[in-house]
Amino acid sequence: MKRLLTLSALLLLFISCAPEQSPVLDTDQLIEDIRILSSDEMEGRKVGTEGNAKAREYILGRFKEMEIQPYKGSYTHDFSRERRNGTKVNGVNVLGVIPGKTDSVIVISAHYDHLGIRDSLIYNGADDNASGSGGLLAMIGYFKQVQPKHTLVFAAFDAEEGGLVGANAFVADSVLMDKVIFNINMDMISQNDKNELYAVGTYHYPELKPILEKVETGELKLLFGHDTPEDGHQDWTFSSDHGPFHRAGIRFVYFGVEDHEHYHKATDEFETIPQEFYKRSVQVILNAVLALDKAI
Ligand SMILES: [Zn+2]
Repeated sequence: MKRLLTLSALLLLFISCAPEQSPVLDTDQLIEDIRILSSDEMEGRKVGTEGNAKAREYILGRFKEMEIQPYKGSYTHDFSRERRNGTKVNGVNVLGVIPGKTDSVIVISAHYDHLGIRDSLIYNGADDNASGSGGLLAMIGYFKQVQPKHTLVFAAFDAEEGGLVGANAFVADSVLMDKVIFNINMDMISQNDKNELYAVGTYHYPELKPILEKVETGELKLLFGHDTPEDGHQDWTFSSDHGPFHRAGIRFVYFGVEDHEHYHKATDEFETIPQEFYKRSVQVILNAVLALDKAI
């Protein structure tokens, strides 16, 4: 017993004397988050389904565990909107905030919904977009350790598939949009065999390019493009949740990978994700968030 006490006293001394740790991205937790969000239990996370609600509960649980504050008094933003084709969608965005040194807001977003079950196949959507949702959670973990300059609102959007409905509902709400000046969106950030990630939007906002060009990317290549009218179908300006922000005159950068063989297929699952690339990708996006937060 005495020895145990001495040991714990020593441990306490060690902890109290240890230098302040520099903030880190928890990549083990990142892999755990993408694994759980893309597991069969979530049944493909289609908006309005039980599996979607399970994914939302998981994200909400992680928000609370990391003690991020609710945004404008609530962690959830219920919406009911019509798609362009007239079908009604009821969904729920998950929102949290980390206050910065100023009250102007950067919205960091990733959609958590996917395609659900089709022909009895579960579309797990690991890259699309459990990867972005995992990235979102990892950033919260990081910014709980370092206060950002801008206030960061973390938005896990629902019903991106089939009309960017959750993001449209968010942008249409003037209370939620109060003081929002920028959007950083992540959608499909984990699946690439050439070590390449795109930062999309600098065609519209060229002043952002020099900021992003200076970002430390290690072995990963951060490419620009997919945002000009000449890109045609490969112009991704309105391809994901950053679209509604851009349309509302809010600057954005969207991070995502080139289309791949698993895109919107049942094979987009945890087992096919190159984990090292995913970890690098999230680290590079975090570096970009830090650079943008400082520069804008
Ligand atoms: Zn997506």
